[in-house]
Amino acid sequence: VAGVLLEEKDGTWESVTTGVPTPPPHAERLRGLTLPGLANTHSHAFHRALRARSQEQAGTFWSWRDLMYKVAAALDPDLYRSLARAVFAEMTLTGYTAVGEFHYLHHGPGGRPYDDPNEMGVALIEAAAAAGIRLTLLDTLYLRGGFDRPLDGPQLRFADRSATAWAERASALAATAERASGAVAGPRGGPGVHVGAAIHSVRAASPEEAAVAALWAAERGVPLHAHVSEQRRENQQCDAARGVTPLVSLDSSGALGPLFTAVHGTHLTPPDIALLGGAGGACCACPTTERDLGDGIGPFESMDAAGIRLALGSDSHAVVDGFEEARALEMHARLSCERRGVLAPGAVMAAATAGGMESLGLGSGILAAGALADLVSVRLDSVRTAGADPVLVASAAFAATAADVDTVVVGGRTVVAGGHHLLVDDVAGELARAVTAVIS
Ligand SMILES: [Zn+2]
Repeated sequence: VAGVLLEEKDGTWESVTTGVPTPPPHAERLRGLTLPGLANTHSHAFHRALRARSQEQAGTFWSWRDLMYKVAAALDPDLYRSLARAVFAEMTLTGYTAVGEFHYLHHGPGGRPYDDPNEMGVALIEAAAAAGIRLTLLDTLYLRGGFDRPLDGPQLRFADRSATAWAERASALAATAERASGAVAGPRGGPGVHVGAAIHSVRAASPEEAAVAALWAAERGVPLHAHVSEQRRENQQCDAARGVTPLVSLDSSGALGPLFTAVHGTHLTPPDIALLGGAGGACCACPTTERDLGDGIGPFESMDAAGIRLALGSDSHAVVDGFEEARALEMHARLSCERRGVLAPGAVMAAATAGGMESLGLGSGILAAGALADLVSVRLDSVRTAGADPVLVASAAFAATAADVDTVVVGGRTVVAGGHHLLVDDVAGELARAVTAVIS
């Protein structure tokens, strides 16, 4: 809408005024359609190295996972810092102002801790600061290779000695992040770092171990995320091992509540949906990853009806484009429901923005006084968006792509202008160099 004046102070919007006929002299004019910053609620930064590299042979989720483990085995803190900086810069270029990094690559080869056991987490914090993106670092509990299997090979790098050892390390990371947040805040707010918790999956922790992470997050009032029912096989294995669905297993560990986000939820059952909705939890869909891995289409229509807050993530980064992610949520639902208009354009963009910010513990994620001063402006004069109605949110949800992003502001600081990243000069070059270094 034209004639809206946003005034920022100390990283939040001080006022949002509509019906302003002429901008005040100091104001910066934004091109096109302006939205709240996009939230990338679920990311594993290092998976970016796999993009288009696992498509040659027909494979399964599990063969893709083997390749992902190879990349994980190759990373050290320095390589991870440069790869993540480039990946986070790609995200900001495409309109994401916050990322929830589901971080499980904790330790050195063989599982030996680095001198600072949080060296990999610190590399991610430094990478996000360099790329100008907000980071909610979801430190992930990952102790087992499967329901009846110990950890093996590269998985050893994911594991702490015990759930208690995980909690001690996560507490130390939270303290480090608090110091780093102060250091990067600066006069213009700065992006900041928050530490939350994640349980990798019901495969990776026993109910008792998962309960330790749930309690850790609840005591701190921070977000708790978990991969839930991404594949049918996960439901089958959980049923065989524990006689319940993955979500019910997590509930028995005390994980569910308003700060809980189920990632994927592709194969949630109707009782699961009622349980998650009743607990006030959220679901993070990752449509471009779910289609890349052949996971299936989640029951998002039923989740929406059950009052489950939806969020979106680019997960494996097969695609990094928040507009495509938002559009895919609705388009996939149309294919599975065999009708149009399953979720309204406003609901789709709310999942891409406010829903995700809330899941990441970052407040309301809307353009209103008191909210974080994040925004993204998309051009409405590109070949894709030309002729789109400038007042319809559908112009963003159903026409725009990452390539149409003109301006990105994070905490009042302009990070992208004219489609160019102001902090990382050559994002494509850095991506190419970092991926090559990891793959070779
Ligand atoms: Zn994931």
